[in-house]
Amino acid sequence: MKIFENPIEPPSIVKGWIDNKENHGSGIEVPVFYPGNGKQVSVLVEDTADDVEKAIASARKTFDTTSWAKLSVEKRIEILESCRQVILDNIDELALLECLGTGLILREIKGFHIQRAAYNFRFFAQYISQAHGERYDNTDGYLTLVNREPAGVVGLIAPWNAPMALATMKIAAAIAFGNCAILKPSEQTPFSLIKLANLLKDVLPEGVLNLVNGRGPVTGSSLVSNPGVDRISFTGGTVTGRQVMMDAGKQLTPCTMELGGKSANIVFASADYQRALDGALIGIFSNNGQQCLAGSRILVEEKIFDQFVEEFVQRTKKIVVGDPLHNETEIGPIASKQHMERILSFAEGVQKDGDKLLVGGKRLAEQKDGYFIEPTAVMASSNNSRVCQEEIFGPFASFISFKSEEEAISIANDTEFGLVSYVWSDHMPTILNVSESMRSGVVWVNTPMMRELRAPFGGYHNSGVGREGGYSCEQFYTEEKTISIPKTPLNLKKFGDK
Ligand code: NAD
Repeated sequence: MKIFENPIEPPSIVKGWIDNKENHGSGIEVPVFYPGNGKQVSVLVEDTADDVEKAIASARKTFDTTSWAKLSVEKRIEILESCRQVILDNIDELALLECLGTGLILREIKGFHIQRAAYNFRFFAQYISQAHGERYDNTDGYLTLVNREPAGVVGLIAPWNAPMALATMKIAAAIAFGNCAILKPSEQTPFSLIKLANLLKDVLPEGVLNLVNGRGPVTGSSLVSNPGVDRISFTGGTVTGRQVMMDAGKQLTPCTMELGGKSANIVFASADYQRALDGALIGIFSNNGQQCLAGSRILVEEKIFDQFVEEFVQRTKKIVVGDPLHNETEIGPIASKQHMERILSFAEGVQKDGDKLLVGGKRLAEQKDGYFIEPTAVMASSNNSRVCQEEIFGPFASFISFKSEEEAISIANDTEFGLVSYVWSDHMPTILNVSESMRSGVVWVNTPMMRELRAPFGGYHNSGVGREGGYSCEQFYTEEKTISIPKTPLNLKKFGDK
């Protein structure tokens, strides 16, 4: 039996972060595991409602009583650039800690996740250097200015599948627009983000970025339910998102919700076949298969269906699943035992639903203690199958064939989700018709995935509420204020002067 080594010596205990100091939470100790070997590597001290209250009070004090919210744009850009530099200076350690929590492939963490985390700060530094306000003159002699002011204290709730890349999008946006933030990482993957908070203490004033640790229903819901929080930015599952929105709704706290997906990857016979095949594999197996934007329902035109599926299966059999630290590894472990078992339960259920297992579906025995599974593909009996309707969130593809453009559109849109869609075709009328017909927040044409940070990202239906991206974040993290001033003293009506 092969036990994979921990990527880095784990911290023995993970604590929260308030006022640029460690905060020993008052809750229970929650075990944290390394997905590569299934061993408990650390404990996280859970922050209770009292700790969350303390984090909010610290953020509020900084927001209300210091110059933070009113810094000049030049100073704020300097701070955002320094955050970026701190991340790049510590890329190796942050990457190993991210790997320890998530089991993501180290090569990809270094090459993408940490780079994106650093770039998120640069992106918002550049964005605020160009942001503009509104000004209206009117014939009654008034000048009206529209200010965008920081929203205040914001709660940021992150998932486990890409902690650094996703949480820094929220942190960078929140501080770029002058807010004080409280981050709650996933209790499964606390290591890289608590390290980041520690590293940023020389750049960010006390109370600008606090961090609370713990399980969702304890720490997360304390943050969401606290009336001292002015915004909640949530990324996670749809079921959790619904609960978070209900809890936030009691205080009328505005939320953005980046939720789950079951995205259609539509391959037409008119596509560049080889690129579409490569793209379909990337779309479902990147990030250990655990990504909201996965192209998990692969719809292929009947004319090329058999050949496409056969070649997809042959390529899938050759994918290297293994140690996330090894350079040749293509898929690492699933993030937790519970999640691995859930994914495998879909494979076990295929026959019952009338679907057919094409490849994979089992845990990898030779790496028994780690959470490794075979990359999996299933031929669905119809789009009504469980494997086509539920988000599996793993290296698990479902195939369906279609005969016409109309049928492809109808199958693709027949889902409770609407995060992204992929279209593969070299026929422009098809590209345009399908892209415009997709009920999803993003459509990627002839490419597996591409995130333009200036553009909105988010979902229709149960995939989300609101968007992330340059202008979308500016709208969310600020309050608008209209100020009207007469340019010269105006003749006012005189009440009681008769
Ligand atoms: P999750 O919903 O279980 O947890 C997300 C976060 O919410 C965690 O920090 C968790 O502790 C917290 N949480 C749980 N219950 C809570 C509650 N009642 N109140 C407040 N916080 C609570 O999601 P996950 O399993 O960590 O992540 C996977 C999910 O995230 C998938 O569905 C995936 O599609 C989605 N996701 C979406 C996007 C996107 O941009 N749309 C990106 C990444 C992941």
